Amino acid sequence: MLTYDQARQAVIDQVSRTTLTRPSVKVSVWDALGYVLAEEIVTDREYPPFDRSTRDGYAVRASDAHSGATLRCVGEIKAGDTVASPLPAQSCIQIMTGAGVPAGADAVVMIEHAQRDADHVTFARDTRAGQNVVPRGSEAQSGRAVLTSGTRLGYAELAVAAQVGAAELCCDAKPRVAILSTGDEVVAVDAHPGPFQIRNSNSVSLAAQVRLAGGQPVLLGRAADNIEDLGAKIERGLKEDILVVSGGVSMGKYDLVESVLKALGAEFFFDAVAIRPGKPAVFGRCQEAFVFGLPGNPVSTMVTFELFVTPAIDILSNAQPRPLPFVQATLAAPLHEKPGLAHFLPARAEWPAPANAAAQVRALPWQGSGDIAALAQANCFLLIPADRDHVAAGEPVSILLRKDVT
Ligand code: AMP
Ligand code: MG
Repeated sequence: MLTYDQARQAVIDQVSRTTLTRPSVKVSVWDALGYVLAEEIVTDREYPPFDRSTRDGYAVRASDAHSGATLRCVGEIKAGDTVASPLPAQSCIQIMTGAGVPAGADAVVMIEHAQRDADHVTFARDTRAGQNVVPRGSEAQSGRAVLTSGTRLGYAELAVAAQVGAAELCCDAKPRVAILSTGDEVVAVDAHPGPFQIRNSNSVSLAAQVRLAGGQPVLLGRAADNIEDLGAKIERGLKEDILVVSGGVSMGKYDLVESVLKALGAEFFFDAVAIRPGKPAVFGRCQEAFVFGLPGNPVSTMVTFELFVTPAIDILSNAQPRPLPFVQATLAAPLHEKPGLAHFLPARAEWPAPANAAAQVRALPWQGSGDIAALAQANCFLLIPADRDHVAAGEPVSILLRKDVT
């Protein structure tokens, strides 16, 4: 049985092998959060486009504005003002943050370090050439690539695109991820469940996870536990880039997903992983699609999606697979688990006030992998490695952050 990182690596290896030419789409910079850029974005001009003051103060020649010197103030320059005339000799000019420094001036003295008396200004300390001025072109030359193809667009990347006037961005189309829940007991979210039925929460959490991972969910609803219905809906799902099936991959008599996939020509790369929850997770390729069979217990579905499906979405988005967001924390209360499987326990991390203090983490009480309510209290999964049966309070542990809520 593969460990979770071997299984994850198998996903990365198999999906990386496909040479996909994904369609690209034009996306407004306002809507492109989470897309992957499919073009290079270059600067339209130098940045900054003029010598820019970083302070409110006085533009000066540094050699004039030494400690104790008094200079005549000849006017003011606001941010956005056109700066045409050079600074006359033995004078200064009041200047605002973001304004252009006039020719002749080579420094800005902060207003706090100058004393104004009518139209004369006296300087409290020596001035260094270049201080508080960002020279024209020092951040970027004109025509320079500021974003490369394959970059995932977060808020800073979008700001860079906006800065250089790229209002429309050529992006890779998001991978389409079909979501199919299985189970005779599963009914639609808006249906009234019978006494032994449950609502299809997995399709909802999976759709959210697909969106967070940068994919486009394609909802196929629910299939009954019979070969005909499963077969028809799985075949429909195979038309997308990825098919994620929830439930039906355990050892029960009505766990038919693997056999249906096999009949449709699937090749499996793993069908069990040494983790709890989530051990029966399946990954394969069937026809043109990558297929994940995730155990139906909701916490298992969520954990296995994070571990295995997200890198596939990254790669099919034309981006590098993002690393799992593990961070170190200190265990607040001791834990015992059976060794042999790596455990991913719903847990809550708290960060004490100083920014450099380690998080304190505590596993949440839960009723097993069906306990969605426990996971809704969790902001991370606490990892207990497969070779540990006991972790003492105060020991360092790894936690996998739920990035959607932390
Ligand atoms: P399975 O993996 O098919 O054996 O399902 C395990 C358990 O997960 C089921 O007994 C249900 O309680 C639960 N489950 C399965 N599918 C869903 C779903 N779509 N939404 C919520 N819970 C589910
Ligand atoms: Mg089932």
